[in-house]
Amino acid sequence: MDFKKCNRCGSFYLSDGDVCPKCNTKDTFELSTFKKYIEKHGTDFSINEISQKLGIQVSNLNRYLGYKELSEYAKDFMPSKKNL
Ligand SMILES: [Zn+2]
Repeated sequence: MDFKKCNRCGSFYLSDGDVCPKCNTKDTFELSTFKKYIEKHGTDFSINEISQKLGIQVSNLNRYLGYKELSEYAKDFMPSKKNL
């Protein structure tokens, strides 16, 4: 087994996933919030704008875009397209 470093709080833990068990509830909640936002509003806003609107850190949003369930949206957030 490997120790993993939590993407949110930086503590080490032993389990599956990108975050520690302590952060898992909040991480799951923010992922679903982000997903609902994209489904409702599309990808017209930049990651930075969505971060401010939803109060979710940019680093976490970028991590969510790497998830399979959001992969179809990820290409719409490519920096080259959204950096104006
Ligand atoms: Zn954590």
